[in-house]
Amino acid sequence: MPTEALSIRQALYEAVQTLKGGGIETSVLDAQVLLGEVLHKSRTALIAADPFELLSAEHYNRYRSLLERRLNGESVAYLIGRREFWGLDITVGPAVLVPRPETETLVEAALSFLAPDAKGNVLDLCTGSGAVALALKHERSGCAIYASDISHDALAVAQENARRLCANAVAFIHGDLFENIVGRFDLITANPPYIPSELIPSLPAEVRHEPVLALDGGIGGLSLIQRLIVQAVDYLAPNALLLIEADPSQMPALERFFRENAYQDIRFWNDLSARQRVIGARARD
Ligand code: GLN
Repeated sequence: MPTEALSIRQALYEAVQTLKGGGIETSVLDAQVLLGEVLHKSRTALIAADPFELLSAEHYNRYRSLLERRLNGESVAYLIGRREFWGLDITVGPAVLVPRPETETLVEAALSFLAPDAKGNVLDLCTGSGAVALALKHERSGCAIYASDISHDALAVAQENARRLCANAVAFIHGDLFENIVGRFDLITANPPYIPSELIPSLPAEVRHEPVLALDGGIGGLSLIQRLIVQAVDYLAPNALLLIEADPSQMPALERFFRENAYQDIRFWNDLSARQRVIGARARD
C-alpha cells in the first residue's frame, strides 16, 4: 500500500502500466472492469465517476490482489465470476469454460433452424455453464430445452444460471454425451472439447486456467466429436439437425465424417472472424 491513498485515476494508471508490463493486451479494459468490480460500479459508472475520488485501503488491496491474479493468467471473467453471452449475464467459475463470442455462432445457427414459435425438443450436449441452452431458451421459450454435461460441478454452475436467468426452465441431465438421455430431439447442439490433446500443454495461460475436461478433444481434437456424431443418430428425430462447434481447421475432416455416417445437407456457419466455426447436418429422413 502506498503511504498516501490513490485516486481512481492514479489506481487505473498504475494498473494499466502493471498489466501492460505483464504482456496483457487488453490492459485498459481489464483495469477498468476490475476496479469497477472492487468499487461495485459498472464500467460506464466508473468512467463517469470523479477521477480524484480516493480509494480506501481495503479497496486498493483488493484491487491489487485481482491485478496479481490477472497477471498470473486468470481471465477477467473468472476474476469477476461472470461473462456476457448472447446478452445474458452468465455466472462462470473454474468448473466451466468461459463462454466465447464464437460460440454465439452456434446459437445463431440454431435459431436459423427454429421458428420464433417453435415448440420442439432441443438438447444441448457438453453444456458447461449452460450458456447455449439458456440463450436458446431465452429466444425460443416454446421449445423444451434439455442440457447435459459429464461434470457435476459444471452442472451446478449451469443450474444456478438457469435459476437466475429463466426460472429453472431448462432441464439438466448428468452424463457422458447421450448417457441418461431418453427420446429423440428436433435439434441437438454441442460445443464439445475439441482441442487436440497434444496442444493442451502449449495453450495460453488464460486457457490453462480452464477445465481441461472442457477443452481436450483427444487425438487431433476429434475423438469426442466423432463419438457424438455416431451416437446422435439414435437421438435425432427424422430430418432433425445436429450442430457442432469445432475449430475451423477440423471442418473438412468433420464434413467427411458426417458423410460417412449418412448425414445429409451438411452446412457451415462462420464466426465473426469469417472462419467456419459451426458445422451442421441433418439426420436421414
Ligand atoms: N474455442 C475454445 C478455445 O479455443 C475451445 C473450446 C472447446 O474446446 N470447446 O479455447
